[in-house]
Amino acid sequence: MIGDKLQQVRARIVTACTAAGRDPASVHLLAVSKTFAAEAVREAHAAGQTAFGENYVQEGVAKIEALADLRSQLEWHCIGPLQSNKTRVVAEHFDWVHSIDRLKIAERLAEQRPAHLPPLQVCLQINVDGGANKSGIGAEEAISLAQAVAALPRLRLRGLMAIPEPAPDFAAQRDLFLRAAAVFDQIRASGIELDTLSLGMSADLEAAVAAGSTMVRIGTAIFGSR
Ligand SMILES: *Cc1c(COP(=O)(O)O)cnc(C)c1O
Repeated sequence: MIGDKLQQVRARIVTACTAAGRDPASVHLLAVSKTFAAEAVREAHAAGQTAFGENYVQEGVAKIEALADLRSQLEWHCIGPLQSNKTRVVAEHFDWVHSIDRLKIAERLAEQRPAHLPPLQVCLQINVDGGANKSGIGAEEAISLAQAVAALPRLRLRGLMAIPEPAPDFAAQRDLFLRAAAVFDQIRASGIELDTLSLGMSADLEAAVAAGSTMVRIGTAIFGSR
C-alpha cells in the first residue's frame, strides 16, 4: 500500500520534471512521516525510501529510536519549527534541519552537535508570502543569515526551505516558489555554495518542481491523510 503510493509519487516527480525539462534525479523525495507510526516508516523503507521528515521533535526522536536497527540506512530530517530548548535533542539525533530561522538556533545546534557525528545538514526557512504569523525569515535577511550560518562549525548549510500558503492555481503557486528560488540564486551569487531547495508538498509538488525544487516533502500522498 505505502509502496504503491511511493511509486505514484515518484511517477508524479518524473512527470513534473519532464514537463519542466529537468532531470528527475535532481529532485529528492523526502517522505514526511509525522503522526504515522514507526511501522509505516519501516514499510516505506522496505519499498526503497530512505529519507524521512518529522515535524515534532519528541515524536521524531521516539521513531528514530524505535527504528534504531535501520539507523545507518535512514536519513532523518527535522522540518518543523524549532525552539531553543529542543536543539540539543535534534543535534544528537537528526541528520538534517530544514527550519533554521534565526542565528541563535543555528549556534546552539553547532555547539550541541556531537563530535562523533557528521556535520548537521541545514536549510534556512524563508517566508516568501509575508504571512504575519508564519515562520521563516524575510528574503532581505536571508543573505546575512546564510553568511553567519555558513561560518559555523559542525553545520553544513545546504539551502533554503519555504512553505508558501496554498495559491489558487498552478501559476500562482509556482510564482511563490520562484521567490524562494530567486533568494537561493542570490545567496549562491554571493559566493555561498548551496545545493538544496526544499519546496513542495503533496498538493503542490508539480509547481515546486517547475520552480526548481530539489527536494519535495511529501506526507499525505504517501502515508494517507492525517
Ligand atoms: C506536514 C508537512 C509536509 C507534508 O505535507 P503533505 O501535504 O502531507 O504532503 C511537508 N513539509 C512540512 C514542513 C510539513 O509540516
